[in-house]
Amino acid sequence: MEKRFVYADNAATTKVSDKAFEAMLPYLKESYGNPSGVYSLGMEASRGVLGARQQVQKAIGAAKVGEIFFTSCGSEADNWAIRGAAKLGERSGKRHIITTAIEHHAVINTCKDLEKNGFEVTYLKPDEQGFITARQVEDAIREDTALVSVMAVNNEIGTIQPIAEIGKVCREKKVLFHTDAVQAIGHIPVDVKAMNVDMLSLSGHKFHAPKGVGALYIKGGTDIAPLIFGGSQERGRRAGTENVPAIAAMGEAITEAVSGIEEKNAAVKALCEPIIDGILSQIPCSRLNGSRENRVSGNLNFSFRGIEGESLLLLLDMHGICASSGSACAVGSSEPSHVLTAIGLEKATAHGSVRLTLNEENTADDAEYILKVLPEAVKELRRRSPLWQRICENEGIEDYTKE
Ligand SMILES: *Cc1c(COP(=O)(O)O)cnc(C)c1O
Repeated sequence: MEKRFVYADNAATTKVSDKAFEAMLPYLKESYGNPSGVYSLGMEASRGVLGARQQVQKAIGAAKVGEIFFTSCGSEADNWAIRGAAKLGERSGKRHIITTAIEHHAVINTCKDLEKNGFEVTYLKPDEQGFITARQVEDAIREDTALVSVMAVNNEIGTIQPIAEIGKVCREKKVLFHTDAVQAIGHIPVDVKAMNVDMLSLSGHKFHAPKGVGALYIKGGTDIAPLIFGGSQERGRRAGTENVPAIAAMGEAITEAVSGIEEKNAAVKALCEPIIDGILSQIPCSRLNGSRENRVSGNLNFSFRGIEGESLLLLLDMHGICASSGSACAVGSSEPSHVLTAIGLEKATAHGSVRLTLNEENTADDAEYILKVLPEAVKELRRRSPLWQRICENEGIEDYTKE
């Protein structure tokens, strides 16, 4: 079998698009001024930032351009939304936050830190497919709830949450609502009005802009405290000289990302459906994590009993396939994914998981190659796995690796 290179880790990061790349160039060399400068070189840069701000505004359906605030990354946007809302709540004695057990670490670890500082956090538990309901949120809201934060799309298993419904509940109860929409842009329609959100986090590098730029949408009139103090950039609410090239690229990238979503999804789905069917039928004791129907089309998260996901990733890499074990942030930790354990997987099963995230740049040849390599790789690892042999003996499964 001919070795190929297949990039299947688009939920970890994406390649910068041609348009995004082109959009950066003027601000690296010619128009390198500081956007705060009063001279025309600075104004060129500040026009670049404004243009990108309008592009982001349009892409997410924000009412005003002044509701978009650029940050250094998606993690900063999440930290800001949560810490800012916590500080605001504290002023009126509200020290309760509601989030879910399957959030990105940027949300979970920020909430854990707030717990050390006198806040109480409710981590809603998803069902076995990874869904949170508006009813769960409604039942958890209290008099002293300062914020609800629920992600739009899960980065590990791709499940899509009912954000508009949850937002409606929060509006009725007059509680601030934040969503981490980092994995949603370019995959599902994102409209801050339809979703009933007060705050929404974005990260450029998840939709073909460069790494190190993000944004937080803050609905007009939402008076959350700043996270970064200093100069008066971003209308005095987020200090730090703007990353003009990356911001310009993010504006182009989000415009491209949100156009033609349906066509892109149909194409990606056509690649992924056969992979799901093929893997589940060819590999014994395998499962697809998350929902088969209500997931973003490019996300494939499988568990294979009896093996270590990390070993599988190394073997896939030897065959030129870039995949991940769920979340880049979990690499190096021996704890299994908090998302997979939250949906009820046993630790051992969660350890044997791999996430492949394809996008519209992947081809039918890529899909075919994955379907050839992955079953062989799992079989190879199981052949040498004492854990797999024990599973076969204990459960009376015929060991197919011994043929
Ligand atoms: C990647 C990611 C983040 C963090 O974004 P960075 O720009 O890498 O800091 C936050 N939330 C989700 C769901 C993500 O996938």
